Amino acid sequence: MSQLCKIVPERCIACGLCAVYAPEIFDYDEEGIVLFAQEPEAHQQFIPEAKQDVVLNAYKKCPVRAILLES
Ligand code: SF4
Repeated sequence: MSQLCKIVPERCIACGLCAVYAPEIFDYDEEGIVLFAQEPEAHQQFIPEAKQDVVLNAYKKCPVRAILLES
């Protein structure tokens, strides 16, 4: 089942952890603020099952809850 992932760039403190744990999903803008690697303009994205473990890890590591998950 797909999972919906949302990002809240206003909360992001540019720590870089999410892209360490899920580099195929998360990337940064020029100020280090989170965005989706494949869809830089989007604030939400469906995560395929094969990537849900790494995204869950990134979600847990984000210190400011700038990554949200909904199933
Ligand atoms: S882990 Fe959270 S605070 Fe750190 S870069 Fe990613 S979204 Fe931003």
